[in-house]
Amino acid sequence: MLKVTGIETYYGKIKALKGINLEVEQGKIVTILGANGVGKTTTMKTIAGIIKPKKGTVEFLGEDVTGLRADQLVTKGISLVPEGRAILSSMTVIENLEMGAYHRSDKEVGKDIEEVMKHFPILKERKNQLGGTLSGGQQQMLAIARAILSRPKLLLLDEPSMGLAPLIVADIFKIIREIKDDGTTVLLVEQNAKQALKIADYGYVMETGKVIIQGKAEDLLVDPRIVEAYLGRRSS
Ligand code: ATP
Repeated sequence: MLKVTGIETYYGKIKALKGINLEVEQGKIVTILGANGVGKTTTMKTIAGIIKPKKGTVEFLGEDVTGLRADQLVTKGISLVPEGRAILSSMTVIENLEMGAYHRSDKEVGKDIEEVMKHFPILKERKNQLGGTLSGGQQQMLAIARAILSRPKLLLLDEPSMGLAPLIVADIFKIIREIKDDGTTVLLVEQNAKQALKIADYGYVMETGKVIIQGKAEDLLVDPRIVEAYLGRRSS
């Protein structure tokens, strides 16, 4: 479904991505792991069209989409939930959800909002509350729900568990599984390596702008290199 080949992305003269290759098969959850600052967010932003790569290609459903803008990619079916969520704090939950469907012209948005709130009952309870008054976990749920309203084929999730309490993190991972079971493909960046590998089918590990290890999630979970570096006691 997604094929990234030889991507090199710069911030000015700094080469943040040094030739990334990765693939995401339809219907799967693929995770990108790695320490802070290795380029995971840059990879997601490059795929989502927020930053343009200097070299390399992004193919989506067999089409070369390299260099397209983020809004064009949303229309093609790629939606990013950015790190830090970026929900609209002075809009209500419902208004935030409607924003997710801004490019749609069909008449099913209202029905889809009802449908998406089945995954997130707390959003239904708080549908008229302002986004900025929600807790961190609820804001993350709203950001994911809003992205689903764009009807993505591929959902890019950048560190959805960041800063959340363990119980809420468990909820978020459960929801990601449900999203996959509903037929949406997911590319997931996570610091929480163990939980991410438990729900993923395949994983990539990055170090300073490169992929250094890749494999089936079940194999990575027991790979001594991963266990030692990323699955220590702190990342349960
Ligand atoms: P984190 O988990 O902290 O988000 P990351 O793996 O997602 O880390 P990136 O945010 O992609 O890493 O950053 C990759 C590299 O690019 C880092 O060295 C970072 O300092 C640098 N970088 C990121 N954003 C910018 C920017 N806007 N301008 C300059 N350098 C940047």
